[in-house]
Amino acid sequence: MRKKFIARTSVLAFLMSLSLAGNASAYVVAKGVTPTVTGPAVSAASTDASTVTAPVTVTAPTTSTSAAAGGTAGPGFGLGTDTGSVTDIAGASGVLLPSNFYCSNVVTYTYMMMVQDLGLMQQQYPSMKLDTIGTTPDGRALYHVIVGNPNAKHKILVHGGMHAREYISSQLVMREIASLLEMQKQGTSYKGCSIAQLLETTCIHFVPMVNPDGISLVQSGLAGIQTQAGLQSVQSILQMNQVSAEGQADFFHKWKNNIRGVNLNRNFDANWALAPQTIAYPSNMKYKGTSAESEPESKALANLTRSVMPDRTISYHTQGHVIYWKFGDGAYLTEGQNFVNLVHQDTGYMIDDAYYPNDAGGYKDWTVLVLGIPSVTIEVGYGTSPVPESQINNIWAENQKILPDTMIDLYFK
Ligand SMILES: [Zn+2]
Repeated sequence: MRKKFIARTSVLAFLMSLSLAGNASAYVVAKGVTPTVTGPAVSAASTDASTVTAPVTVTAPTTSTSAAAGGTAGPGFGLGTDTGSVTDIAGASGVLLPSNFYCSNVVTYTYMMMVQDLGLMQQQYPSMKLDTIGTTPDGRALYHVIVGNPNAKHKILVHGGMHAREYISSQLVMREIASLLEMQKQGTSYKGCSIAQLLETTCIHFVPMVNPDGISLVQSGLAGIQTQAGLQSVQSILQMNQVSAEGQADFFHKWKNNIRGVNLNRNFDANWALAPQTIAYPSNMKYKGTSAESEPESKALANLTRSVMPDRTISYHTQGHVIYWKFGDGAYLTEGQNFVNLVHQDTGYMIDDAYYPNDAGGYKDWTVLVLGIPSVTIEVGYGTSPVPESQINNIWAENQKILPDTMIDLYFK
């Protein structure tokens, strides 16, 4: 990954050229770069929004093996030749995590790292299914991974990175993907059950980063924007919210919404109209949008969910070690209670049974209330979001058993 420091006018010209290019995959996927797994080599998030830095995604591919040839890839995957050496880290209960991905390390986990990890995973684990479910307003692909038999009787849907400043949740979801793929490949048994066999009866759909535009903004400020439309959106949000030049870095650091200023977890069709519009215009948090599923990211995730109709969903957020699962009464209550108990036993996080009908519009609210799917929102990490990157290993230790245990649970249903 390389950064170029160039003048603002050049950035604008560069952004315009990206905008004119019109094909997200042409510039969001930098390839031919073998992931460097040492954490400190990866630069931390810039908190200085006044530094004008070009997006880091312009490296021309040096190796371009089109993954499209494999038939399942997202656009533009060209893989390096290094397959990496897999060193397994045995966690609690024998859950494995390969060490050769960015997500396995303590880093500020970026969209580009995720793209490179996905490319490398596809090379190492041909059983993995990879595609895209949409494109964000700032031109990034929304990646979707299936681990296990896509025609399995049971399905689980997991997503992370919906709130921008909670990006550590994307890294956790990527670890879950890598872990399951590695255990499937190695023939690992967990509590006496073969992970590979469990993945025949339950497949898992992952959307590891629902809001990559917002995440790039939190991590890199204005330099994290790659299209003219994205830049215009952010500039108008800064104006509407009367953010001073001195206040910009803090405003970006606290950003939860997508790049159009909508809180995606207030944008789903669960009592959406009841949810108070606590702010009347696009901002870095709170604003619920003009209608349910008004945003490309929420629409894409809702479409995927309707098409998969999973048995369980897991939404990862930060922070507080809390699990939410309830939204109204319904047939989901018994299984929902069982599911949240399982997650509580594995993580030790507190269960919050409260819900308020007008505290609405969340993804989990929608899957529970409208689709009747037992679902949890898991708040990982401690402190203030973005929670420190150093928490990722503890977060992983607390969450690594959830998917294997849920697969075992579903196996007997
Ligand atoms: Zn959140």
